[in-house]
Amino acid sequence: MTLFDSPAFEGHEGVHAFFDEKTGLKSIIAVHSTARGPAAGGCRMWPYPTTEDALTDALKLSRAMSYKNAMADLELGGGKSVIIGDSRSQKSPALFEAFGRAVEAVGGRYWTAEDVGVSPADLTHARKHTRYVAGLEGHAAASGDPSPVTAEGVFRGVRLCVRRALNRDLDGVTVAIQGVGHVGAYLAEKLHAAGAKLVIADVNREAVDRIAAATGAEVVAPSAIFDVPADVFAPCALGGAINLETLARLQVRVIAGGANNQLADAEAGRAVFERGILYAPDYVINGGGIINVAGEIRALEAGEAFDAAWVDAKLDRLALTLEEVLEQALRERRPTHEVANEIARARIAGASGQRVAA
Ligand code: NAD
Repeated sequence: MTLFDSPAFEGHEGVHAFFDEKTGLKSIIAVHSTARGPAAGGCRMWPYPTTEDALTDALKLSRAMSYKNAMADLELGGGKSVIIGDSRSQKSPALFEAFGRAVEAVGGRYWTAEDVGVSPADLTHARKHTRYVAGLEGHAAASGDPSPVTAEGVFRGVRLCVRRALNRDLDGVTVAIQGVGHVGAYLAEKLHAAGAKLVIADVNREAVDRIAAATGAEVVAPSAIFDVPADVFAPCALGGAINLETLARLQVRVIAGGANNQLADAEAGRAVFERGILYAPDYVINGGGIINVAGEIRALEAGEAFDAAWVDAKLDRLALTLEEVLEQALRERRPTHEVANEIARARIAGASGQRVAA
């Protein structure tokens, strides 16, 4: 495979490969688009078996960030970085300092943050060599854990979908949540407070017990969450939860949750539509986390403190965008994820060469 022929390359502005002899750093920074502003997306550290796997992951994730940032109505483009290595055994301060120099070399076209395998402590080392780092702790602009904000956006999205599909409020509605980690746990608390009945599953027994005790949720085995009679299925674990096999078992009217990449493939997306299930496109409904990070970038750039009210206003706008997607999909009788992709592409194209006002 050559870079330009990779199916994941699609329209990338820049792909930067970095090697640091002293620390062994091997990193790829992919910048999909800066049409709406500097590219923003986290850094993932993963023991990719081949360089090709790392490149493909960086490209796919970076394009996804362009779409997510556009739908969250942020003055940010899409980018992502990967460090090839095992985060449990190959981390060092020097490695992240070298990564910071790599980010700096991209000249402000890419802002990094945490992702799988990378912590705020790691980013502190990167920050010594570049200011284009968000997700740090202990300063006035810091945005903190994005999960509660992600969960708030998902909660508003679930409420909207229930109103549209079932014509009712959340009180008495049954929601099956797959995964009660950071996002799923906050979502469960919010849904419980709104009067929803919960059924939860997680491979982590301690997590389910804690959330069940706090919310009165019914607990089922992880493999049984797809068979639960419920109104809403909220995927909040890993990607790929919706495939033809799990879809055949789901008895819900709405799929709306926080996980990334919920649809296993395009076929699953079509099948959700044909079953008449209302699907909230994942990268739209879960945009709260990147909105939170954007709040930090904005504060750092302006030399101001983090502004929670700005974040909240963006969350309101995210719900309006979700509504716009659902409305257009209904009008045109098309799958919601296809409509979302189209709107995201139009927002990116419309911003080319100019910044979009917040
Ligand atoms: P997390 O690791 O804290 O939670 C995931 C939970 O899912 C864990 O408790 C895990 O035990 C559980 N799980 C894993 N496999 C499972 C299975 N087969 N069945 C049931 N449970 C299973 O992660 P998180 O931060 O809560 O993120 C959850 C999802 O939301 C991920 O897909 C993530 O990419 C996405 N997301 C998170 C944020 C955020 O702000 N944290 C923002 C946007 C998207």
